[in-house]
Amino acid sequence: MPYDKYETVIGLEIHVQLATRSKAFCGDDASFGGEPNTYISPISLGHPGTLPRLNKKQVEYAVRLGLALGSRINLTSTFDRKNYFYADLPKGYQITQDRQPICVGGQLNIRVGEEQKIVRIHHIHMEEDAGKSMHDAEGPYSLIDLNRAGVPLLEIVSEPDLRSAEEVDAYMSAMRQLVRYLGISDGNMEQGSLRCDCNVSIRPKGSETLGQRCEIKNLNSMRYARRAIEYEVRRQAVLIESGGRVEQQTLNFDPATGITAPLRDKEDAHDYRYFPEPDLPPVVLEPGYVEEVRRNLPALPWEVYDRLTEEFGLPAYDAGLLSEERPTAIFFLELAQHTANFKAAANLIINKVIPYCNERGMEITAFPVSHGQLAAFIRLIDEGKVANAAAYQHIFPVLAESPNRPPLDIAQSLNLIQTSDEGLLEKLVEEVLANNPDEVERYRKGKKGLIGFFMGEVMKASQGQADPKVVNGLLRGKLG
Ligand code: ADP
Ligand code: MG
Repeated sequence: MPYDKYETVIGLEIHVQLATRSKAFCGDDASFGGEPNTYISPISLGHPGTLPRLNKKQVEYAVRLGLALGSRINLTSTFDRKNYFYADLPKGYQITQDRQPICVGGQLNIRVGEEQKIVRIHHIHMEEDAGKSMHDAEGPYSLIDLNRAGVPLLEIVSEPDLRSAEEVDAYMSAMRQLVRYLGISDGNMEQGSLRCDCNVSIRPKGSETLGQRCEIKNLNSMRYARRAIEYEVRRQAVLIESGGRVEQQTLNFDPATGITAPLRDKEDAHDYRYFPEPDLPPVVLEPGYVEEVRRNLPALPWEVYDRLTEEFGLPAYDAGLLSEERPTAIFFLELAQHTANFKAAANLIINKVIPYCNERGMEITAFPVSHGQLAAFIRLIDEGKVANAAAYQHIFPVLAESPNRPPLDIAQSLNLIQTSDEGLLEKLVEEVLANNPDEVERYRKGKKGLIGFFMGEVMKASQGQADPKVVNGLLRGKLG
């Protein structure tokens, strides 16, 4: 395998579509979808004589993200025009930030398997989206929908710190999680709210200099990004091995064939003739404004994760799942106010509450059972009144459908209350031992695994209502 001796180097340009109500430079609706060409106006259509006006929310969201990533916030940033001709760009240029972007530097820490890794951010700039062309929908015609033209974007440019498709996946996922925590984007990849250009190069392992890179445009799914990178790395290695040279190119990935291919020349004309946008003054921020945005930042994903492992003692796996989405983390933190058994609370959310919501396409915030009721459910198990499995299997579904019914009441009506009455249980234990003399002998000769068999028999005899802890103690006592 010729590519084994090369190291992969990747830098990402992520485009995040911001969840503002209106577009970047005018009041048009910035929602996704809508009948084609209905969220438009003379400004987003670029009619002569119209002037852009900056959306305050876009600036606030950029600062929020910059602060979360530890970037330096540029108190003065400026807009530039990036000129190119394409049918879905009515003005003939895109308003972006080239010379003075709003955020500079910063980093995002990612976890890949057991490893932690720092990905440095080069800068974040504000810009606007173009419209959408559909080339294959209508016979020989191309269709254009300008609803998306002028929707606000942030572009997050990383340093070339990523080394594999797996790391790209982890970085994209962490960024998606962050923008959702910050409430600045829905992070929806299918709808294009989060997409990336992947700059890929390879170099001999151990080398410090960067190889020539290719840029794969507009990957809007983690799976495609993975496949595109794997294909591209192999292509470059085979090329170099056969004595060729990688040329800096802009590529398109075709999910149908699984290969990358150069874009048509005119789409790759990198002669954007950037120049300062004359219609927008510089964005000047007061230090006090930046501080206010900082004060209003929510707890960040990694802070929540640390709190779950350190303060609540949860295992890494549980903390990862519960901190994945902010509403889930909040759900746990609220439940933790009602019970001291944090691990049981985590189990209940992970194994029952989340699947229940997922099956119904329901947000966890709409889960009908109160935290107090869930805490009572946990207490039933902790006090030995109901077996864990019985509570999960039989009580939880009833509780979810009748959220106000006390769990104890449900347990009683389903006949699930366990007996810890030692006198009664002792009788059952003795009966089971008397009925299985061979197993008793084998146990005493060292076949200790038979304890499970005896437990099962006693549980059966009690119709599932014996407290397993008490039965276990009694069995061990009697078997010696
Ligand atoms: P441009 O502005 O032409 O797109 P930049 O130098 O700003 O180019 O880089 C864009 C992205 O490409 C950044 O994310 C950067 O980390 C990445 N990059 C630059 N050089 C390489 C390389 N040799 N291999 C992989 N990625 C690279
Ligand atoms: Mg670029």
